[in-house]
Formats: sequence, structure tokens, C-alpha cells
Amino acid sequence: MSLLRRLAVLNRVSPNKCFIPARPFGNGTNTLYQSNPPQARFFPPSEGIMLLPGTYKNKVAFITGGGTGLGKAMTTTLSSLGAECVIASRNLEVLKKTADEISQQTGNKVHAVQCNVRDPASVEAAVNQLVNDVGLPDVVINNAAENFISPSEKLSPNAWRTITDIVLNGTAYVTLDIGKRLIKAEKGAAFLAITTIYAESGSGFVVPSAAAKAGVKTLCTSLAAEWGRYGMRFNIIQPGPIKTKGAFSRMDPIGTFEQVMLENIAVGRLGTPGEIANLAAYLCSDYASWVTGAIIRMDGGKYVSLAGEFNGMKEVTQEQWAIMEAKIRNTKRIVNL
Ligand code: NAP
Repeated sequence: MSLLRRLAVLNRVSPNKCFIPARPFGNGTNTLYQSNPPQARFFPPSEGIMLLPGTYKNKVAFITGGGTGLGKAMTTTLSSLGAECVIASRNLEVLKKTADEISQQTGNKVHAVQCNVRDPASVEAAVNQLVNDVGLPDVVINNAAENFISPSEKLSPNAWRTITDIVLNGTAYVTLDIGKRLIKAEKGAAFLAITTIYAESGSGFVVPSAAAKAGVKTLCTSLAAEWGRYGMRFNIIQPGPIKTKGAFSRMDPIGTFEQVMLENIAVGRLGTPGEIANLAAYLCSDYASWVTGAIIRMDGGKYVSLAGEFNGMKEVTQEQWAIMEAKIRNTKRIVNL
């Protein structure tokens, strides 16, 4: 079977809508293909900051993976709303650059702290630095993650360990370390985890990530129930595809899947970092103080489009519908159509 046909079958689109990229390799976050399905014109992204200025005044936010992609966008939004942000990940150089850029843009301090979330000692050191520099946080966003596509039969134990250590164990180390300190200090906080739509369904070819993200979801919903009594809320955003360099360089390395992905998104376009950032800012704010244990899918309708058994019938033409209708009318059971 040709690659075209196989991709078409995999993505339930006709082969002539599925094409091999003109360039053999990906191109960072630049959009190589702008041929969004026509309905996208009804759903332009609004990326302006939604909440009122000053919503996060005197609040401290700790964001893992805050130097790039969605983490950077969430940090920019919280900082614009008045928060003092601390961003943490492995690459201190990238963190510092992002922290300076956001501080200059918003006029609020952003701190950069080196942290490898898969290493509990590194997490403890980073949280010590956070507490020393700005105090215990009001907001904690577990956003750091790694992922790559691979047939599962090619996964080594090390590959499995790396992804599940960063995604699931990393989230647990950050949450438990900060949570214990908050309990001791009798201080509340809003936690948010960024998972993915396939944390619900599972997905082939990203099995360690799917298993770990499902674990993160359960960690958060469990703690939402247990630690509400200490003033902590836990919510989850499940984003659909958003073109960040980190995600697309490992999930769509040759740029083949972007167009076929679009065919399966009800609103006909990818999401934007700003859209996730607005939802994150709401969920971590006092406006959402009655929201905990919530799992919010923000994916332009991708999940439901892939799930519905008959959704492929969008491809059926008017002529084909007429033939089918006539056949259905001829059946004995349905007489009054
Ligand atoms: P990204 O830019 O690659 O962000 C991932 C971040 O995690 C990086 O800043 C990275 O920084 C950090 N990180 C990785 N390993 C780490 C470790 N061991 N310790 C500390 N930090 C670590 O990609 P993104 O698209 O913005 O992804 C952000 C989140 O959204 C992830 O949880 C991802 O699963 C989720 N998500 C994204 C999409 C999408 O389409 N973009 C869809 C669904 C879910 P360092 O390299 O400096 O450590």
C-alpha cells in the first residue's frame, strides 16, 4: 500500500487530500501548509488576554517548561496579568532568555530556575530556590514533558523510563514537594497540569506518553479530592495539536501529518498557544475557585471527530445520500421518513 493511501486510511480521508510534503524535513514552527479546511474562517483565534489587568497582582506562579512553547505563552499571560513568575526546566540559557523577554514585555519580574523534573533532588533544589527568591507559589503549572513517535516494538526500557519519568514522575515530584510545603505553611494554591487528548483514549505510537499523561490526570483528580481540605485545587487541560517547535519536531518530524491532522479537527485549524494560555489563566485564577478536579479538553473538536463512528460520512456526496435514502425507504422497518 502506498504511503499516501496508508496515511489516508489512518486518518480517514481520501488519498487525494493526503499528500507528501514538498520539503523532506520539518521547518520549526513555521506553517508549511496553510490550506486549512474552509470552516476555519468561522473560528479565528482570539489571543488577546481575556482576564482583567491586575488579576494576578501579588501572586507567584511556578511553571515547569516555561521557557518554550505553551509554557512560555502561559508565563507571558500570567506575567501580563501581574504575576511574579518562576520558570523551570533543564536549559538555563533558554529560560533566562525567555525570562528577560517576558519581563521586558510585561514589566513584571520573571525568574529562571534550572530544574530536571525527573530528578527529585533537582526538584527539591529548584523549589528551595523558588521559595527563597519569591516565596511559596499561588499557582503551579506542571507543563514540562518530552515525547516522540515510535512503533512500540522499538521502544527500549530506557525510552520508556525517560518519558514516564519526566511526564508522570516529574509531575509527582513537583506536586508532592510543593504540596507538602504548602500544607505545612497552611497556604492554598491552584495547580494545573497540561496533558493531552489521548490521555483519555490512549494512542498507538506514543504509548509511554499516553500512559504517563493518563497517570498525571489520575494524580491530579485524586489530589483534587484529597487536598481540597488544605486549600489546593487541581485542574487539567488536554490540548489538541498546537504548532510549537518542541511538539511538532518530534511528533511530525517530516511535516507529513499537519495537513491530515487538520482534516480531523472540527473547526478546521490548529490551536494557538495564546488560546491555551487564556484558559490556563482562568483556571488558576480566583474566578475559578469553585473549579477543581476538572478535565478540560481544548482541541477544536479533534477528539470527537476521531471518536464518532459515522463521522467519516462527511465525505458522502449529495448523490450518494440520495441513493442511500432511497434504499433506506425501501426497507420494511422505517416507513415514515
Ligand atoms: P515544548 O516547547 O517542547 O515544551 C516542553 C518543555 O518541557 C520544554 O520547555 C522543556 O525545557 C521542558 N522539559 C522537558 N523535559 C524536562 C525535564 N526533564 N525537566 C524540566 N523541564 C523539562 O513543547 P510544548 O508543545 O510547549 O508542550 C508543552 C506541554 O503541552 C507538554 O506537556 C505537552 O505534552 C503538552 N501538549 C502539547 C501539544 C502541542 O500540540 N503542542 C498537544 C498536547 C499536549 P528544557 O528542554 O529546557 O528542559
